[in-house]
Amino acid sequence: MKLEGLSICGYNRVKPSGTPTPASNPATAAQLEPGYFWATPEDVTQAAQLAARAFLEYRRWSPTRRADLLSRIAGLIEASASALVERAQQETALPPARLQGEIARTCGQLRLFASLLQEGWWLDARIDHGNPERKPLPKPDVRSMLVPLGPVAVFSSSNFPFAFSVAGGDTASALAAGCPVIVKPHQGHLGASEMVGIIVQQAAAECHAPDGVFSLLFGPGRDVGTTLVKHPLIKAVGFTGSRAGGRALMDAAAARSEPIPVYAEMGSINPVFLLPGALQQRAAALAAGLHASVTLGVGQFCTNPGLVFIEHEPAAERRSESGGRRAEVGLPISDLRLQTSGFLQSLESLMAATPPGTMLTQSIHSEYNAGVEKFSRTPGVRRVSDKREAQGAKRGAPGAKGKAESATRRPLTAYRLALGAPTALFVTDAETFLSHHTLMDEVFGPSTLVVQCGSRSQMLAAAQELEGQLTATVHGTPEDFAANADLLAILETKVGRLVCNGFPTGVEVCHAMTHGGPYPATADGRSTSVGTRAIERFVRPLCYQNAPDAALPDELKESNPLGIWRLVDGKREQGRGG
Ligand code: NAP
Repeated sequence: MKLEGLSICGYNRVKPSGTPTPASNPATAAQLEPGYFWATPEDVTQAAQLAARAFLEYRRWSPTRRADLLSRIAGLIEASASALVERAQQETALPPARLQGEIARTCGQLRLFASLLQEGWWLDARIDHGNPERKPLPKPDVRSMLVPLGPVAVFSSSNFPFAFSVAGGDTASALAAGCPVIVKPHQGHLGASEMVGIIVQQAAAECHAPDGVFSLLFGPGRDVGTTLVKHPLIKAVGFTGSRAGGRALMDAAAARSEPIPVYAEMGSINPVFLLPGALQQRAAALAAGLHASVTLGVGQFCTNPGLVFIEHEPAAERRSESGGRRAEVGLPISDLRLQTSGFLQSLESLMAATPPGTMLTQSIHSEYNAGVEKFSRTPGVRRVSDKREAQGAKRGAPGAKGKAESATRRPLTAYRLALGAPTALFVTDAETFLSHHTLMDEVFGPSTLVVQCGSRSQMLAAAQELEGQLTATVHGTPEDFAANADLLAILETKVGRLVCNGFPTGVEVCHAMTHGGPYPATADGRSTSVGTRAIERFVRPLCYQNAPDAALPDELKESNPLGIWRLVDGKREQGRGG
């Protein structure tokens, strides 16, 4: 596949303008060909106008045609998988196995939406038959279903070059809903984005989609991205990234003369609660599971567990309350303290033994360092695995070429240049956590903060203080869960997904998944960006009153020619079809 470094506007490539910006390899800082030309404001207008025109036809496509388009995109991605993995690996330093898995997930997502389209129930078609004889007033015939919003702007993510990028979940759900898509790719993987863009363009052509159903505009978010969001023909936005970026786009969208919805997934610290019975039974396994989750993908996951609560109660206090035994789970305090420290010791040695991994971009790397510095400087917070220099010296900096370039001779500067991120494990107490709101800031990378709570009520107080999160995780025995119903009740109000006895990284793509959560985890806690409910972000209900059959879409016609599930006069039924 030949890369040109040019944006895609419908079925055309945008002419080069200005100076090209090269893609780069984060592991070596080497520049990659070709250079990328940024789109101009005129290109944004052109793409938006094409998308608006394409919408008039595409919104009326049958579910089968839309499903064919999604399936064709998946098929073409699979056919180019090895080239895609090779390029993405150069641009992101993510390992090939991870990227292959992501491609499989991306294609699975596209096919899941294709199968959803064939089902039809997601349209929420409802019919209330009229009754002209009703007294005192005739009852009108009322029918409604969900219809697409219009052209959608998608900001792809840095950390998922495929699954949350050009043909990722936002694009798949918007195209499935019947909305044309204009993608603003992430600068962290320009080449992989262009490749997937070419694939989507080819699939659209093969499926005879209207020109403009898909465009891809390279350029900085504050420039090309903001212009796109402000364009009056854009009707919704999908975004994955930082809170600052998401919030800027929410504000820009709200300030338009016609405000539009922004579905921004902005991250989370994903608190984990280790309850006493679980700590007693499996401290080492919990440390190993947590370490694997914190360091997965160099910690660059929105579901990375950045905060861990454990109960570490002074024995004297607990004894006076429950006579030397833990009332809730029957665990002697001395055992609990032992298990707690065993957990921390195991976690500390695992974190310290983990070599630094290469981060995705310079900016993510400097944000990570700044976050780690901020936590390190917070009074009352202790960094317990600070092995930066030792790790660098022992293992060599990422990108170093053998002994001659060991980190002993090229210490922190070369190491930082190569975007290496050492792990960071912090420990504090609940008082410190509750008095420093900045300890709730996301530190995007292989870092986590363990908060030792002096009592169960302190743990509850800390949970109550949490901001909206994508996930919360609770580890416990059945007795722990029974004794902590109040904790679960608090967490239910804070998160989009509650994980029990597992870890939050790894988001299953399925019908029931919620990858969302109250603000600031996302812009709108009523939505999800993973799973088939993601389609609901890009539709709105449209109601027809007393419309003759000929004026109704097939989904609402009396004979139900598509044979879909509908709510007819209050009863769910599947029509005859045909
Ligand atoms: P980002 O800086 O928010 O960038 C994401 C996208 O939004 C990029 O395309 C960027 O464009 C654009 N953008 C950023 N600020 C903007 C603004 N003010 N106006 C318009 N567009 C804007 O996220 P990132 O590069 O992926 O990573 C930076 C930080 O985001 C990380 O350190 C981490 O804290 C967080 N993050 C969170 C998640 C998550 O899911 N929780 C995922 C990734 C990153 P340009 O870069 O082209 O300017």
